[in-house]
Amino acid sequence: MRTIVWFRGKDLRLADHEPLADALARRGDVVPIFVVDPYFFAPERARELPHRMQFLVDSLAELAENVAERGSRLTFFGGKSVDVVPKLAHAYRADRVVAYRWSEPIGVDRDRRITAALAREGIPFDLFEGETLAKPGEVLTGAGEPFSVFTPFARAFAKVVEIGKPLRAPAALPKAPPVPAGVRPLLTKAPTLESIGVERNEHLVAGGEKASRDRLRRFLKGPAAKYETGRNEMGIEGTSRISQDLKFGTLSARYVWTTAKDALDEHPKAWRVWSNELVWREFAYDVLRVRPSVLTKPFRSAWKGFPWRRDEKAWRAWCEGTTGYPIVDASARQLLAEGFVHNRARMISASFLAKHLLVDFRKGEAHYMKFLTDGDWANNDLGWQWSAGCGVDAQPWFRVFNPVGQGKRFDVDGAYVRRWVPELARLSNRHIHAPWEAPEAELARAGVELGKTYPRPIVDLALARGRFLAAAEGHLAHP
Ligand code: FAD
Repeated sequence: MRTIVWFRGKDLRLADHEPLADALARRGDVVPIFVVDPYFFAPERARELPHRMQFLVDSLAELAENVAERGSRLTFFGGKSVDVVPKLAHAYRADRVVAYRWSEPIGVDRDRRITAALAREGIPFDLFEGETLAKPGEVLTGAGEPFSVFTPFARAFAKVVEIGKPLRAPAALPKAPPVPAGVRPLLTKAPTLESIGVERNEHLVAGGEKASRDRLRRFLKGPAAKYETGRNEMGIEGTSRISQDLKFGTLSARYVWTTAKDALDEHPKAWRVWSNELVWREFAYDVLRVRPSVLTKPFRSAWKGFPWRRDEKAWRAWCEGTTGYPIVDASARQLLAEGFVHNRARMISASFLAKHLLVDFRKGEAHYMKFLTDGDWANNDLGWQWSAGCGVDAQPWFRVFNPVGQGKRFDVDGAYVRRWVPELARLSNRHIHAPWEAPEAELARAGVELGKTYPRPIVDLALARGRFLAAAEGHLAHP
């Protein structure tokens, strides 16, 4: 029995890796491979996703080392996976190919084509579940329908989904068979940032399985116990920061769930609130699997054809962090600098773009996908559609986050703004979220000159809110 274990970008680990464990259990040859597909790795494409590619490349390098330490080799092949994988299966005379299933349309289509090509050679392509805790289609309403509201989904999830123990990483791997002669293009080593034309950003979180586990451990030993309150404070490290680890699979969802459940045994409230966030991820994946069209269309069809504005100047200000609203600007700058944005800042910022600026939320969604290290089709789309008011379980569309009020409430001492908008750092807590309200003397003392050192607000909040509500009311009355 010879099995090709195809690692893909969402399972970059050895611990709790079911396809690998299954191949090992059959006691034959095991061929670990990774395909460097130009869809992601061509320099012109990789530069479009710099932060995710850095995390991916670093995680891959560590995975290759871990495989080598255990006596095998992770072999890299270049080319489109739809062509390469069937060719490899043939050349290696493989009996089967195994991998984890992907939920995104691009992965579903790729796997359908590869399954068909392998079937022509009589080689099974076995896809394992494990991207999420629930299996696709496992959480359904009493009528057997998918959910489109979170709370009943979460209730049903708790009833039906059984979460088993994660598997340990194998202590040793069988020696990889030699690469068959003539298999091209064989790459001698893992891709590097230089080879894909991406400049390293030292401010991103570290990639790899070990760094991911350490991150989870640090969170569980520290901020987790106070998660119910800490999660909303934008100026502190009150959340786990493991979203990219789940996205790239340096941690399995099952490992995260079971480890945290044990660790938070004495903090049931914190566990309830934090695990609820993991269930949001489950929900986002469920929605994407059932309705992949959400990636291009609003979930609520009444929003089709919504009269978004084209406003290049406002759009640029939102991207660059120069809207004149400190919390919105802080989040834009955090994204560009760190490839991350605090969840509450994401909500405020997304609402501001779609509602106050009336710019199509899909532009913001694409911008986040470009720069977020955790950029994830399912979670990002759910977050954007929720914020714009047109998604599953959307906040009521007429609820418009006030960036000043949100800042005063969830960044009380202005720490988040001070960090990311340093030109305002010397303003008082009272005025840091609304510098235009500060008396001249305070502005002068803090070295702030509105319109010069920091922009004046690009829209009036009340007018912009009214403009959005009128547009939405008009459109939804006659969609
Ligand atoms: P924690 O608070 O520690 O939560 C633990 C884990 O639960 C997260 O790592 C994540 O996997 C999951 N989770 C938390 N909140 C959500 C949520 N609302 N929806 C789905 N899963 C959640 N999350 C992404 O992983 N990728 C994205 O591309 C993404 N884009 C977003 C865009 C917008 C506009 C909004 C409002 C939210 C988005 N989120 C996204 C959800 C959320 O902001 C991040 O998961 C969270 O901020 C990551 O930080 P953390 O790991 O410290 O989270």
